[in-house]
Amino acid sequence: MNKALANMPALSQPATIQIDGSQGEGGGQILRTALALSMITGQAFELMNIRAGRKKPGLMRQHLVCVQASQHISQAYVEGAELHSQRLYFVPQHVQSGKYQFQIGSAGSTTLVLQTLLPALLLQNEASELTISGGTHNPLAPTADFIEHCFLLVLAKIGIESEFQLNKAGFFPIGAGEIQIKIQPWQHRNKLCLLERGNLQSTEAFAAVLNLAEEAQIAQRELATLEKRLKLDTQQHFHLKGISQGNTLYVKVKLEHHTQVFTSLGEMRKSAEQIANHLAQHVKQYMESNAAVDEYLADQILLPLALGQGGEFTAQCISEHTRTQASMIEKFIDCEIEFIELNENLFQIKVNVES
Ligand code: AMP
Repeated sequence: MNKALANMPALSQPATIQIDGSQGEGGGQILRTALALSMITGQAFELMNIRAGRKKPGLMRQHLVCVQASQHISQAYVEGAELHSQRLYFVPQHVQSGKYQFQIGSAGSTTLVLQTLLPALLLQNEASELTISGGTHNPLAPTADFIEHCFLLVLAKIGIESEFQLNKAGFFPIGAGEIQIKIQPWQHRNKLCLLERGNLQSTEAFAAVLNLAEEAQIAQRELATLEKRLKLDTQQHFHLKGISQGNTLYVKVKLEHHTQVFTSLGEMRKSAEQIANHLAQHVKQYMESNAAVDEYLADQILLPLALGQGGEFTAQCISEHTRTQASMIEKFIDCEIEFIELNENLFQIKVNVES
């Protein structure tokens, strides 16, 4: 045990929160949310059965970096911070704002490391700057484009100010991408009211190909397929820097009250048309529902809302990630998260906090 904790009288140490990592969704999100909330509340936690729901359970490189980075910014006492570890004990001290640089050393998701650290840093009195290298366009994680053009826009609505930059793109397996973010102290905390998405203003498509043969043709074929399936206002072949190889495609739907982004990544043995068709399908499903927020954004904004003034929004569905995230948040802080089914494709999510 570290010196400061050892010197603390036993009674003043709050009880360790016990978490079963196999509950609900059973993935890395439980770990990331526990780290974020532990740093914010000062509550120690013990997490067992880490990522028990996954094919390769335990801490992978990217999760380990989340633990190490959290340990670094909060000077935490930690047990079990090793690759493949299925148990973690984490006792935070003081979160320190500042300029930090973290390297995942694989194509692990930089955006998920960012989402682990961001909540604790924005609650400090001084600004912070994070530079994280690794993967920036990973399957099963928000891409850098999603973070920049969707996630951070909702955060801005509730008063969180940040400046995000994708310096280099990183695709699996090489990674070597880099994101950078400046985070201002959260001063004006607004309640979110995003029940109505409002009228459609534009639908824009973007495609990029990095270090692959037939770069221009791949992007053109993807954009042409999207054009056939969706009513696009603009389409753009944009350029990425970096040493890895990959392809990404995204659609930005601008509505009166919200901007929703849908992303897709190129895959081996899948044609440009298949990738684009798959993405178009997601966009169409969203257009046909009346929800403001898609499945993924719903789980990602719960924590920022719970830390601020709360709020309510409509979502296309309630994923297992969203339910697990809600129960994790309720474990650490005094708030209540409600799910109301309005119809098959429309749910209302309320984050009620003590005012
Ligand atoms: P986990 O599976 O527990 O590591 O969590 C994955 C996280 O990535 C969740 O917060 C998801 O909402 C998010 N995510 C997965 N796929 C996408 C996607 N296509 N777009 C945006 N976010 C995503």
